[in-house]
Amino acid sequence: MTIYNFSAGPAVLPKTVLEIAQSEMLDYKNSGMSVMELSHRSSLFEDIIQQAEALLRELMAIPDNYKVLFLQGGASLQFTMLPLNLAQGKKALYVNTGSWSKKAISAAKAIETVEVEVIASSEDKNFTYIPELPETVDQEAAYLHITTNNTIEGTAYGKIPKVGKVPVIADMSSNILANDYHVEDFGVIYAGAQKNIGPAGLTVVIIREDLLNQEAVFAPMMDYALQAKNNSLYNTPPTYAIYIAKLVFEWVKEQGGVAGITAKDQQKAQLLYDAIEKSNLFTSPVAKDSRSITNIPFVTGDDELDKAFNKAALEQGFENLKGHRSVGGMRASLYNAFPVEGVEALVAFMETFEKENGGK
Ligand SMILES: *Cc1c(COP(=O)(O)O)cnc(C)c1O
Repeated sequence: MTIYNFSAGPAVLPKTVLEIAQSEMLDYKNSGMSVMELSHRSSLFEDIIQQAEALLRELMAIPDNYKVLFLQGGASLQFTMLPLNLAQGKKALYVNTGSWSKKAISAAKAIETVEVEVIASSEDKNFTYIPELPETVDQEAAYLHITTNNTIEGTAYGKIPKVGKVPVIADMSSNILANDYHVEDFGVIYAGAQKNIGPAGLTVVIIREDLLNQEAVFAPMMDYALQAKNNSLYNTPPTYAIYIAKLVFEWVKEQGGVAGITAKDQQKAQLLYDAIEKSNLFTSPVAKDSRSITNIPFVTGDDELDKAFNKAALEQGFENLKGHRSVGGMRASLYNAFPVEGVEALVAFMETFEKENGGK
């Protein structure tokens, strides 16, 4: 049975990447060692991390005045590092668009020297849309934080808001390398790797140089300037995760870069949204103009039927389709490495299920 992995993260990786990793597992470039066994100070590993950075710069067209950092602690540690480095003694603005935004907001609020202001929210309608921002925002604020793609709720920003001179900071964990955003529209971009980049344990941070903290942060590991000065090698970085990320970046490049891959992502998402629109059983809880192409929730409107669907889907090899416990129903995460055949198979299965369960 073919397994299709709809996991929201850690998520499916390109098969060719796993095959290369497999072939190099025991002996990396005739070193007689696995990448996992290499010193992070060795020239072999230095090549890996430098190539990973160069590839990401090329793929995302990252301008020279941005640093690329390979850190640890997940996107969740960035919820704390950002206010700690950028907003002490200042105000930080947030848009509340879902569970991950909420966590970012509460982590910032936990830092006593930071004043947090939530300037827009979609909580009134269960986070099913991306809210409008007020026309003007406090120009003295350290930053405006947004979540470009709301992994759990299935919403995404089409256009990135512009708020005068206040830098926009984005949690891009679930749609990095799957959109046509421009890096220069952001002050900082960060993403946990486990959705669109590679294995868990690696966090990518892209930060404009003028936003690097001038003063040291009490914890060296959480100090952007120190991490940047040490080229992400202040301590032992997650070497194997960086190696896999490098392979994924090479794969993205082979797929026609971000533009090529985003076109495929849009096609995959369209297949599923069309099926949902056509259906008399399944609906999308998300407002049409706010829909994500990477995380697509859908429901039957009947908890028992959702359960039956999820059970039957699992038996057919559709793994991890169950919606997040806070939303229920189903959620298909269609990240870059998810094959179009998997979406076609899911759509066919949905049609069969609908016929068998009273749909017209
Ligand atoms: C998965 C996810 C996170 C959490 O990432 P960790 O690496 O587990 O900390 C944060 N934000 C978004 C948007 C996510 O999708």
